[in-house]
Amino acid sequence: MDGKFADRAFAAIFDDLRGHVVWAIPLYGEISRIHDYVVQSDGAFVETMNGLHNLAERGHRIEVRTVLHAQTLPRIERLAQFIYRNLPFVEHVTLMGLEPMGLARSNMPLLEINPAELSVQIASAISFLHQAGMHVSVYNIPLCTLEPGLRPFARKSISDWKNEYASACGACAVKEECCGFFRSTSTKWRDGIAAPILQHAA
Ligand code: SF4
Repeated sequence: MDGKFADRAFAAIFDDLRGHVVWAIPLYGEISRIHDYVVQSDGAFVETMNGLHNLAERGHRIEVRTVLHAQTLPRIERLAQFIYRNLPFVEHVTLMGLEPMGLARSNMPLLEINPAELSVQIASAISFLHQAGMHVSVYNIPLCTLEPGLRPFARKSISDWKNEYASACGACAVKEECCGFFRSTSTKWRDGIAAPILQHAA
């Protein structure tokens, strides 16, 4: 037994938690080349798939999480389709903005994206999952960087102790519902992005 959900005997240890917890499992691509590269571990994709199926087989609640950056975004729609076709037991799919900390910070040249283009890049993946009847959410992305049609999927996901707003956010009508920014982003970066929304959607 190696201490991973890919090991059926290990997964069985958690039977008593069935239904009481939601396991949030990261999946960064629909092919091993992408997922293994992002986590820097050969064989990680196969292990993750085995783990997901072992948990599902035992009746656990599962969320699949992916982080949005330059390595995952080009295939995000294919990942959405893969989740729908191969992991229909998943109860929640979350697309998450990157927190610029640790390895993410040191590898930023490989991960950086243009926030102004994010909305267009994730729109079809969200639309596909939603229309397929899957519960999909967007975490860690400020509302003003999402096109209006995607805002209902956004959650106020950044913990209070990690969260910061830009100076312009004070004039924003949706600040209470917006996750704002990670404190680890620079003030200059936040100020370059924040664009106050002047009224709630009808
Ligand atoms: S202006 Fe600030 S509070 Fe308003 S949506 Fe943008 S980041 Fe959120």
